Amino acid sequence: MSQQGYVAAPPYSQAQPGMGGYQGGYGPSGTTQPLYGHYGGPNQAYNAPPTGMLKSPAVGLPPTPLSTQYSQNGFSFLSFPNNVQELSTYNSMPPQPQPTPQQITNQMSAMITYCQHAHDNSFNGRRTNVATAYDWCPSYGWCSPMGAPPMAGTPLMGAPPMAGAPPMGAPPMAGAPMAGPPMANMGRPFPGSPPPGVGGFQQAGPGTAGLQGFPQQPGRHRSDVIRQFGGPMAGPQPGMPGGFPSGPSQLSGPPQKKLDLDSIPSTIEVIENDRLRYEGQIYTTNIRGQVPPLVTSQFAVQDQGNASPRFMRCTTYALPCTADLAKQCQVPLAAIIKPLAILPKNETPLYVVNHGETGPIRCNRCKAYMCPYMQFIEGGRRFQCGFCNCVNEVPVFYFQHLDHMGRRVDFYERPELSLGSYEFVATLDYCKNNQPPNPPAFIFMIDVSYSNIKSGLVKIICNELKTLLEKLPKEEGSESSVIKVGFVTYNKVLHFYNVKSGLAQPQMMVVSDTAEMFVPLLDGFLVNYQDSKAVIYNLLDQIPDMFADTNESETVFAPVIQAGVEALKAAECSGKLFIFHSAIPTAEAPGKLKNRDDKKLINTDKEKTLFQPQKGVYEQLAKDCAANGCSVDLFLFPSQYVDLATMASVPSHTGGSVFKYNNFQVWYNGDHFLRDLRKDVQKSIGFDAVMRVRTSTGFRATDFFGAVHMNNTTDVEMAAVDCDKAVTVEFKHDDTLAEESGAMMQCALLYTTLSGQRRLRIHNLSLNCSSQLSELYKSCETDALLNFFAKSAYRAILNQPLKNVREILVNQTAHILACYRKNCASPSPPSQLVLPDAMKVFPVYMNSLMKTAPLVTSTELPTDDRAHQRLSVMGMSVEETQLLLYPRLIPLHNMDPGSDALPAPVRCSEERLSDAGMFLLENGHSMFLWLGQASPPDVIQGIFDLPSLAHLQPNMTALPELDSPLSKKVRSIVADLLEKRTNSMKLHVVRQKDKPEILFRQFLVEDKGLYGGASYMDFLCHVYREVRQLLT
Ligand SMILES: [Zn+2]
Repeated sequence: MSQQGYVAAPPYSQAQPGMGGYQGGYGPSGTTQPLYGHYGGPNQAYNAPPTGMLKSPAVGLPPTPLSTQYSQNGFSFLSFPNNVQELSTYNSMPPQPQPTPQQITNQMSAMITYCQHAHDNSFNGRRTNVATAYDWCPSYGWCSPMGAPPMAGTPLMGAPPMAGAPPMGAPPMAGAPMAGPPMANMGRPFPGSPPPGVGGFQQAGPGTAGLQGFPQQPGRHRSDVIRQFGGPMAGPQPGMPGGFPSGPSQLSGPPQKKLDLDSIPSTIEVIENDRLRYEGQIYTTNIRGQVPPLVTSQFAVQDQGNASPRFMRCTTYALPCTADLAKQCQVPLAAIIKPLAILPKNETPLYVVNHGETGPIRCNRCKAYMCPYMQFIEGGRRFQCGFCNCVNEVPVFYFQHLDHMGRRVDFYERPELSLGSYEFVATLDYCKNNQPPNPPAFIFMIDVSYSNIKSGLVKIICNELKTLLEKLPKEEGSESSVIKVGFVTYNKVLHFYNVKSGLAQPQMMVVSDTAEMFVPLLDGFLVNYQDSKAVIYNLLDQIPDMFADTNESETVFAPVIQAGVEALKAAECSGKLFIFHSAIPTAEAPGKLKNRDDKKLINTDKEKTLFQPQKGVYEQLAKDCAANGCSVDLFLFPSQYVDLATMASVPSHTGGSVFKYNNFQVWYNGDHFLRDLRKDVQKSIGFDAVMRVRTSTGFRATDFFGAVHMNNTTDVEMAAVDCDKAVTVEFKHDDTLAEESGAMMQCALLYTTLSGQRRLRIHNLSLNCSSQLSELYKSCETDALLNFFAKSAYRAILNQPLKNVREILVNQTAHILACYRKNCASPSPPSQLVLPDAMKVFPVYMNSLMKTAPLVTSTELPTDDRAHQRLSVMGMSVEETQLLLYPRLIPLHNMDPGSDALPAPVRCSEERLSDAGMFLLENGHSMFLWLGQASPPDVIQGIFDLPSLAHLQPNMTALPELDSPLSKKVRSIVADLLEKRTNSMKLHVVRQKDKPEILFRQFLVEDKGLYGGASYMDFLCHVYREVRQLLT
């Protein structure tokens, strides 16, 4: 592997020859015209001050004093009692001294079962209430459209544990969590301040090769640890069994002390420390295997040879050298790729390289594209592929001399030699039938059956489209969108509309033979919106009236998708269908479905069938759509079960999305729906995409998770891929990896742009390889790991009982931590749970994952909602899964209305709430404004213009627009979050102790789950026991 990719580049702020336009010597015959798109345009981001990368070794190329190494290699540990039996209350079983793996598994399943059983006891009565009073709202939350009376009584959580449900985390945690080996100022103490040397990015590469594990430090004693790190923290000293009252005494004793949350690792602190470390900095990608800032931090990226973390993130940036090591640690090796991620305005858009008719230069053997990992040799006449090592001839037009370092002299003039990400203009060889693609199309398909007309849905869709179609997405810099539009309405039959420009009136054509779907008109069905605006307006005005008196309640569904794909085929273009559908399709037609929801299957081996789509018609349709570049976005407005698992199978194989609005009423969720629709239609998107991930020798991509279709084992097909969709790729070894050469990957996405141009987008990323597990652990990214675990677990439940899947998650958590402890951590007392620094909050996320709707076995969760969440997560990026698994809980009661800053979030636990407080909670899918029962009247007045909380209307979904500073501030925070997130969210305003509060509380992920699942504290204790068993 050549090192050229990581060599610090000269400052891009200085004028680079050809950097602005790439005019010279570019393309087959010295093309001199400015090339495509952003390429050659003003490059604003290159004016950023990136010189620091080269000139200031403090950033990007930190010196490597031993202390730095330690701070990077830090870890945290928590103390637990020495006596395991004290903790055995968790599963009420004495631990086996030397359990076999099978015993461990059995025992764990017993623990899990016990835990849920305990929960059942505690919440039995309340659960019944939930079932009757609530339904599930569009995005993973329950809601009660008609509101509910306030609930008298006990707080739902955080109360003293019930008898019979001995909470294992009950005792205050002995010992403060600590970080790092006990060397002053070297660890990242938790809780505590960010490490010294802020600004130093993760060091990697040869400099660290000698640093393996934790060399024993002479004179290091645990007491040092306590003195140095334990002082300011709550809780008894580590290793003091006295801190852990035994189970029985807890049960019979007085109400236990409140759990001390501060003694266990906090996601909030991890996020905050990372934010402080990277905020306002420029992250350059010139170092192999460097761990990027967290997704939650704000930073600017400068591409210097590796793809930005906005495009690619990895579970670890140091792969183990051998398959054995990988197996030993059980850390999954995966990359999460968001190929069309939007870059912030202060970062350089991707350059577009045009090699004219010859097309991009590729390796003859493995077909990898020209990139910084190709090594030019023999005076520049040949290049050696960094992926397969094949030596290739350099085409004559591409020849260039090498400098004294063996680097091409045009290195900085060609993005494909010096950057991690760029695009190639694809030649006709990359186009279907060797023809340039036609402009893509959007087809709007509206169910006009009785319920959609009656709810007013059809009317608001038609109204919205009039303005929304003015904002169809377009390539940056182009004047107007080239996307064509078409319209279909349907119930049991389909109505196609001719909206050709010049027509005085739109014309309707009805197809009633849904078994043999065809498109009755070609000319005039897909049109340019601007050309046909008058006719389309006319049509959108008429549709609600045309069906105003309909009694038709039956609908078809598969024929609708079929019609869409046929229309795109006929027009020889790719595109997207936006389908607005109400109920399970029961009309006599292909794809007719019946209600197969069966709560009796829950908690049995057959529960998985609830998530499996019906095969047959929909499976074939998904293939057909994928093959023809037809993506499907489904907006569902159900009032009962619709077999979402089946209905969503086409969207989930075509890069599409599914949105769901239960019991749709315009006043209740109309705004939420319209915000989603606007975002969805205006999104930046690519069509007819195929993605391929190539790797250097020794490992390869083996599995893919996403809203994708796989026709073979390597090509990831996406009928469309938008800027938010991510594909998670798992890697396996097939040979030994070498530390010196590292591991390269190249993701190539072939797609059609918004303007109808065929392009190849290339992302390159190089990782380290190490035979030391400590390197792997310190290079892990917890958020990326969780993205992988969520997707793999959500796929596994299609084939395995949920109980097994949860067990595997617990097992793997324990294995990962046990392997770390055994191989990487310095010796510590058995009473401590040792967490690698980079995985300090891994357990809280894993526990949260296990409490998500698809993974809990509760008969109260609607099957469709579980299926919906399962499918939504498959296409999510790391940002989205992070937020989903650890929602933001933001206190609003103490904020300064004059300040622009968003108040700092707090831990997702009931303990952080207060009776006089006001909190905003959001997870990217649901949003709540929670008001404590003792909220001061002036706050209520300021936000709602009401004298007291008692006057608040139930089911408020928007805040009144008042002139008070508080109202303005709260509304602006809400609006900013709605704008920022991928999906829109509906705002629920809930009062403490009102029934709907339960909707809110399920997102307090550190607490015990409402539908099963341990609290964070309990889970940590459980994991601790598992780790101990694995180590004995
Ligand atoms: Zn090759």
